[in-house]
Parts: sequence; C-alpha cells; structure tokens
Amino acid sequence: MPYKFTFDLSRIPRFFFMEIARIGYEKGMHKRVSKTAQDMIRKFKLEEATGLDISEAVVLLEDLIELQARNLMERERFMQTQKRALFLPHCSRKHMDSHCHAIFDSSLPSYLCRHCSPDCLINRATTLAEKKGYDVYVLPGGSCVSKILRIKRYEGVVGVACGEEVKLSGEVLKGMDVSGQAVPLIKNGCANTIFNVETLLATL
Ligand code: SF4
Ligand code: SF4
Repeated sequence: MPYKFTFDLSRIPRFFFMEIARIGYEKGMHKRVSKTAQDMIRKFKLEEATGLDISEAVVLLEDLIELQARNLMERERFMQTQKRALFLPHCSRKHMDSHCHAIFDSSLPSYLCRHCSPDCLINRATTLAEKKGYDVYVLPGGSCVSKILRIKRYEGVVGVACGEEVKLSGEVLKGMDVSGQAVPLIKNGCANTIFNVETLLATL
C-alpha cells in the first residue's frame, strides 16, 4: 500500500540520512531519542524542500527512523544467514512500459531484469547483488513477498521499498522467521522511484 502523499528526498543532503541512522541507532539501543522528528523537520527545512505538510513529514521521518532501528536490531542475525534474496520494487525500473525489456515470470511472481538500460537502478542493483550471491526479484507488489518465501525458503532478505511496504513485508518476514534488512525509497510515487545504491550495497 503506498503512502497517501508523494515525497522526494533525493536532493536532501546526505547528512540528513546520517542523522536518521544516528537516531535509529539510539532508538535501537533503547536509549532516549534525544531529537524528535519535529526537530529534524525544522533543521532540514523538510516542509520547504519536499512540499509535505508537517503531519506527512512526521509520518515519513518516524518510519525512516523505525526502519533504521529495526535494521540495526536485526543486523547480527542477518549476517549469520547463508541463503539470501534481494527484493526490489518494480517502480524503480527506468521504464514502466514496453521499453523495459524485463520478462515477467508469473510463477514467482517477479520481473527478471534483462539489463537493457545501463542507468536503470534495477539493473545496477541486480548486478551488484548477484555478484554477492543473492537471488534477485523485482516485485510488482508486496503480496509477492510471502509467495516467493513459501516457494524458495530464504534465510535472509534485503528489501527495497517505501516505508509502508517495508512495514507490511517486515511483518511477513517475522511470521516466517526470515531475517530482514530494509533499504527505503528516497523518492516514492509508484513510478520512477529512487533508492540509494550505495546504501543498498552497504546493506548487502
Ligand atoms: S534495465 Fe532491467 S529493469 Fe531496467 S528497464 Fe531494462 S529490463 Fe527493465
Ligand atoms: S512506491 Fe513502489 S514500493 Fe511503494 S507502494 Fe508504490 S509501487 Fe510499491
């Protein structure tokens, strides 16, 4: 399920994400979170930079902090896993129409990238993850997560998605005793979405 609002954090300075990582760490370590989401929204002028209103910015920021905290708490267990998969969102493909040469395998269900565009995020992520031994899936929706996990039985999963989808998929992974790490979209909207490839590489 997408957010009811669209956002684009791709032009926000990297320091913003370092702050989120720091606060997520504090939260994950059960320390008192010293800075509130509202403090960060003011500090990084998030409303001006994104056009979000304050309540939307708070929802987004709290989700990003929660995601970082969960990643941290799960990291050690994830590092012990052997059989891993990467789940990518179909909305980050360079093309969402017939210009995308991916094949859709309905039995999984997943798109299989055919690397038609060197600057496509899905192409870059797929190549990086396969080199590291991951099986890669490009999902048309969050409901595919449980279907694939029932068929393939992975021990660890890295998932890229918007915060709402990450939360839903996190519950699925928990229910199936699969260890997960999440990488958030920094621009949503269900088409031409963006995630940070360096963040993904560090997570893999
Ligand atoms: S590189 Fe892959 S995902 Fe991207 S447009 Fe081409 S086939 Fe589709
Ligand atoms: S932004 Fe992408 S991951 Fe999020 S709901 Fe839309 S299609 Fe799914």
